[in-house]
Amino acid sequence: MRKTKIIATIGPASLHPVKIKNMIKEGVDIIRLNFSHGDHEEKETMYNYVRTVEKELHRFIPIIADLTGPTIRLGSVDNFILNRGEEAFIINNQKGEASKKEIPLPNSLVYESLDTGDLILIDDGEVQVKVQEVLEDKIKVKALNEGEIRSKVSVVIPGKDLKTPAITEKDIRDLEFITKREFNYIALSFVRSKKDIQELRKKLKEMNADYMKIIAKIETQAAVKNIKEIIKESDAIMIARGDLGMEFPLEEVPAIQKKIAELCLRYGKPSILATQILDSMVHNPVPTRAEAADVFVAIGEGIGALMLSNETTIGKYPIEAVSWLRRIIEASEREVPPPRADGYDETIYEKFAKGIVLLAESVNAKILAYTKAGMTALRLSRYRPNTDVYVVTGDPNVARQINLLWGIQPLYCALEDINKALDDQLKHLKECGEFRKGDIVLLTVGMREEATDLARIEIIE
Ligand code: PGA
Ligand code: MN
Repeated sequence: MRKTKIIATIGPASLHPVKIKNMIKEGVDIIRLNFSHGDHEEKETMYNYVRTVEKELHRFIPIIADLTGPTIRLGSVDNFILNRGEEAFIINNQKGEASKKEIPLPNSLVYESLDTGDLILIDDGEVQVKVQEVLEDKIKVKALNEGEIRSKVSVVIPGKDLKTPAITEKDIRDLEFITKREFNYIALSFVRSKKDIQELRKKLKEMNADYMKIIAKIETQAAVKNIKEIIKESDAIMIARGDLGMEFPLEEVPAIQKKIAELCLRYGKPSILATQILDSMVHNPVPTRAEAADVFVAIGEGIGALMLSNETTIGKYPIEAVSWLRRIIEASEREVPPPRADGYDETIYEKFAKGIVLLAESVNAKILAYTKAGMTALRLSRYRPNTDVYVVTGDPNVARQINLLWGIQPLYCALEDINKALDDQLKHLKECGEFRKGDIVLLTVGMREEATDLARIEIIE
């Protein structure tokens, strides 16, 4: 059974119920909707397709709403070319004039915090300029390469901790849409410190949606610096290599990935690896050797989930990308044991879960656990059990949320009595052939649940 989970982002290339169905059949466990693109009408369509398909396939598919966050974009200007070494002017305005080489940057906070020597990456780093001089009403910059200035493209100022709000007005409008539907995770972009996570949690509470879990996207220098406090404050971590590769020299990104993956393991938080996982498959039906090796490395680092973006949003081969990712994960998992780092901040409840995992492995048992809010599932997952783990819950939102967790297969049972729910699912798993004659099953509930047996062994007749 595959342990590492697969996330797919929906976009024009996959916006069809049959495609979504096939992606899930090929291995997708989690769907991401990216609020940086498209409108609410499109998101509504995507959301409804996923929920319909999920029902047809009898699965629990969590949907991640990925908020835009405090991104910076240029205003409008007619396209113009900047030659290497040429001077241009950044102005705090919605519109710029191409003939005057004006680059419109309509954001007072950003405009005012620019200093001589700052590097500015425009259009995903396609154009790089350096601040020469801060003048009274404009900022003189020099182009470091030849490139084209276009309207509305992205702007990154590596390492600059801009005091922009963590949740923008657009994010609030998106949250109003999101909290009216059954989304299960919210991803917050450009997180800088734990305060940003706390602010989102407060907003969710105000909107009666604090059942939603928060994924912190690590994509700024500040986030890497504050990584420990962010991991502790968040429900999951996304290593967002796209923007990380702009904020840091690219050669440093693999080591940052490795460090964050290890910290997530130690703190017992799910980790997600994002961007350019099988990027060549945007155009080709087969990934590169290097991409296969990248996935293999991620499995060895203990990454919990891998996320496809362009491959499934605008790529020519969305289904094939999922299928290849699943196959590379499966082959890698057969060869690489999941790393098990000593935990930080382990409570008695964590140690209990660790004991369950060790016991199950030593008697070669499968695990069938019950979780109310998902904590038992999270605790079992963090010890990377080398056995099949099924977790029953009575809450559909929890069933979906725990499907993001490494190695956890969610099950749903509406019965209120925990022991009865476990027995019911044991029977169900026997009937559908998941548990066969002679299998040893270790049944357990978290130490906080009020059931009679904390752990019980069954041998399937
Ligand atoms: P994005 O985040 O796809 O929303 O930009 C992921 C990344 O930056 O890697
Ligand atoms: Mn990003």
